[in-house]
Amino acid sequence: MNLAINIDELREARISLTGKVGLVPTMGYLHEGHLSLIRQAKAECEHVILTIFVNPTQFGANEDLSKYPRDMERDLALVKPLGVDLVWTPSAEIMYPTGYQTWVEVEAVSYPLEGANRPGHFKGVATVVAKLFNVTQPDKAYFGQKDAQQVAVIRRMAVDLNFPLDVVVCPTVREADGLAMSSRNKYLEGEYRKAAGVLFKALSAAKLLYEGGERSGEVLKGKMKEVLANEPLAELQYVSCADYDTLKELAIVKGKTLLSMAVLIGKTRLIDNFVLG
Ligand code: AMP
Repeated sequence: MNLAINIDELREARISLTGKVGLVPTMGYLHEGHLSLIRQAKAECEHVILTIFVNPTQFGANEDLSKYPRDMERDLALVKPLGVDLVWTPSAEIMYPTGYQTWVEVEAVSYPLEGANRPGHFKGVATVVAKLFNVTQPDKAYFGQKDAQQVAVIRRMAVDLNFPLDVVVCPTVREADGLAMSSRNKYLEGEYRKAAGVLFKALSAAKLLYEGGERSGEVLKGKMKEVLANEPLAELQYVSCADYDTLKELAIVKGKTLLSMAVLIGKTRLIDNFVLG
């Protein structure tokens, strides 16, 4: 397993990788969700590049950038047995050197949901992913369905900016009670960890209605709100029933649909989603 920090090191190591290359971008503090992306990349490509970079430009001023969990030694030990060829861990100064002033903004699909609650977030995400694509030149790039709007933004960007690669979307890996794995779950302790299962319960209840034939977006959202309201430690930020690609809210569910939500459990902000249809 090769390690690169600066861009010259990465480029030099990349040249020696012949055949299909899969890229798995992460912010580290790896868990089984990240590892599932690496395993899928490994199964579909000759070589895998993993990036670990806590991207400052996707964090808002009052978000948890400085407190975001980091443990490089543990991360490297976790991925070593998976056969990753190259790990790139650039610093913020390498990604955004003095004088930096170029940004990627994906428009409509960035605006609702997470975009509305975290202004500037997807500008930071799209910019860093475009840079990762440019430097690592992958044939396939792997992202988790867990971050559904990120997937929609990156798929749009890859088409719009003519990146010659496939964006591969991998299923959400969950804990036994259904909680989607996330580096931020580390913040959840005791009763808060228990309460966090309510996101999965709310999504499951709405899915059950859908499977029974319900197609009203309002009714499906109402069900999610009802379940969330029964958990006193959960504070709802939004629930959504939207078109999978455009993220436009749907009055009537038709075709591939995204049920999604953001919920505060104490101070920890969690997101989750199910795909219907
Ligand atoms: P992050 O380190 O949170 O930026 O995540 C890196 C990648 O892992 C993103 O594509 C995420 O969507 C994906 N990911 C995070 N959590 C999960 C999960 N529970 N299941 C599947 N993929 C995930």
